[in-house]
Amino acid sequence: MPDAVRLEVTGVTRSFGGRPVVDHVSLSVAAGRVTCLLGPSGCGKSTTLRMIAGVERPDAGEVRIDGRAVFGPGVNLPPEARSVGLMFQDFALFPHLTVAQNVAFGLNGDRAAKAARVGELLERVNLSGYGSKHPHELSGGEQQRVALARALAPRPRVMLMDEPFSGLDNRLRDGIRDATLEVLKEEGAAVLLVTHEPDEAMRMADEIALMRGGRIVQQGAPYNVYNAPVDKAAAAFFSDIN
Ligand code: ADP
Ligand code: MG
Repeated sequence: MPDAVRLEVTGVTRSFGGRPVVDHVSLSVAAGRVTCLLGPSGCGKSTTLRMIAGVERPDAGEVRIDGRAVFGPGVNLPPEARSVGLMFQDFALFPHLTVAQNVAFGLNGDRAAKAARVGELLERVNLSGYGSKHPHELSGGEQQRVALARALAPRPRVMLMDEPFSGLDNRLRDGIRDATLEVLKEEGAAVLLVTHEPDEAMRMADEIALMRGGRIVQQGAPYNVYNAPVDKAAAAFFSDIN
């Protein structure tokens, strides 16, 4: 039986200055799966993600999470009511808070429950024993893991990640991608990962949605999208993979 659809985006559209930058985008992500929204810079990936998160308002379309409309006719829930976790290139940890306080930031409930969840996540990202350190004492890769733990702490139904690895050292990136994927799978999140790098999508995605000029031009399993590109431009986009 296929996993339940967690995120369903239908016909989402947005123009700036009369120019459509996201044009009737539709996609879905199931529980425990990673969909990569892949395309060149400026094609509308971040705008799409921001509309799903609720920080940018679509002109039209519908966004459903767990079957419930969070944006649609007469509905526009604020970001904090959508059960989405967010992760960007700039991890933006709170510098004055400890690692444990950063991870606990979005958590409600009693102290013991929060501490248990923080401990569980720090273990999951391999940072047990780092709870009382401050962000500046950590490497870039370690900070990225704290940001991942923080985003996952409230158990969001959907994780939205916008180029979360692009600020990291090239040599560390593949290892961090694999470790991140493992944590995401353990937590069972439904993930929409934005990237402009085909090799990242090939490494991490269960499904690729290839975007160009505001539209999704091809969607499918990585192997199929790579081996049967929809047109010459799609083939060229994948050809600089190494
Ligand atoms: P990507 O993430 O794929 O690089 P973006 O979604 O950031 O693309 O941007 C898509 C297009 O929309 C770009 O041409 C960008 O300049 C434009 N754009 C994004 N946000 C705004 C905005 N707030 N006002 C005007 N243009 C915008
Ligand atoms: Mg972007």
